[in-house]
Amino acid sequence: MAGRGGCAESCPNLLMHQDCPLMLQDRTTKRTNVNTAADVWIDPSIRGTDESRWQRVLAEAPLWSPADGPLLIVSPHPDNEVLAAGGLIHMWRQWERRVTILSLTDGEAGYPHQRQMARMRREELKEALQVLCRSPVLVVRIGIPEGRIAECASKLRAAIVSLVVPGTTIIAPYEYDGHPDHDAAGRVTCEMARTLGLPVARYPIWTWHQGNPLAMTRLSWRRFSLSEEAQAAKADALRCFASQMSPYKRAPIFPEHIIRYFARPYETFLV
Ligand SMILES: [Zn+2]
Repeated sequence: MAGRGGCAESCPNLLMHQDCPLMLQDRTTKRTNVNTAADVWIDPSIRGTDESRWQRVLAEAPLWSPADGPLLIVSPHPDNEVLAAGGLIHMWRQWERRVTILSLTDGEAGYPHQRQMARMRREELKEALQVLCRSPVLVVRIGIPEGRIAECASKLRAAIVSLVVPGTTIIAPYEYDGHPDHDAAGRVTCEMARTLGLPVARYPIWTWHQGNPLAMTRLSWRRFSLSEEAQAAKADALRCFASQMSPYKRAPIFPEHIIRYFARPYETFLV
C-alpha cells in the first residue's frame, strides 16, 4: 500500500534542494541539454551515478504494489510515465484495471520547431502505449507549456480532482528529482493527494543519474516487481521515443547509460 498522501520527506540530506550536494555537476560550468524553458543543471551526456550503486541500495527495498484499484499517473513530459512506470502500466492493464495518464506538457521547449516537436512527442507517446498495452490507456493532456508547471499549478490541481475516484492510487514524480517541472508536478500532486486523502507513490527520473545512493538509503524505497513480459513490453515501448532516445543530429536526452536505470526487473517508487 502507498502511504496516504505521503511526500512528507524533505530533501534526503535535509538541505535545501537548491544547494543539494546530491547533484553531481559543477553548476558553474555545466549547462543543460535537457530541453526545458527553465534553467536546469542536468547533463545527460555525463555518465552519472553507476547503476550498480543503486542496485546495492535497492536490493534491500521491500516489494510493494498499489492497492487494487485505478491508477492516476502524473507525467510532466511524454516518456516519463513509461520510463518510470511502464511495467506497472502494462501489468495493471493486463489485469484489466484502470490506468489514466495525466500528461502535463508536450515536452516541446528548447527545440527550434516547437510545434512540430510537440506533435511528434504526442505521437511517440501514443505509439509507445500501443506497444506497451494490448488494451487502451486513457491519456488526458492539459497542455501546460514545458518548463512552466509551477506557474500552472491550479490547472494541475483541477485535473487531478476531475480524474480521481475513491480507491485511486496516484503515481507522481519525486518532488526533489532535480528538474523544475518534475519537482513542481511532484509537489503539487503530493499536496493534492494529501488533501484528497489518496495514496501516492513517487518516481525518480533524474535522481538515478544525479543522486548519491548512499545519501538516500533512509528513504522509503519500494519495488514493484515486473513480469518478464512487462519488462519486454516496456523495452519495446521505450524505443518509440525516438526524439529522446535516438534523435537525428543531436545527443540523446536518454542515452544508454541512463536507460539502464529503467531496465531493472522492478520499478522503484517512494511511498
Ligand atoms: Zn521529464
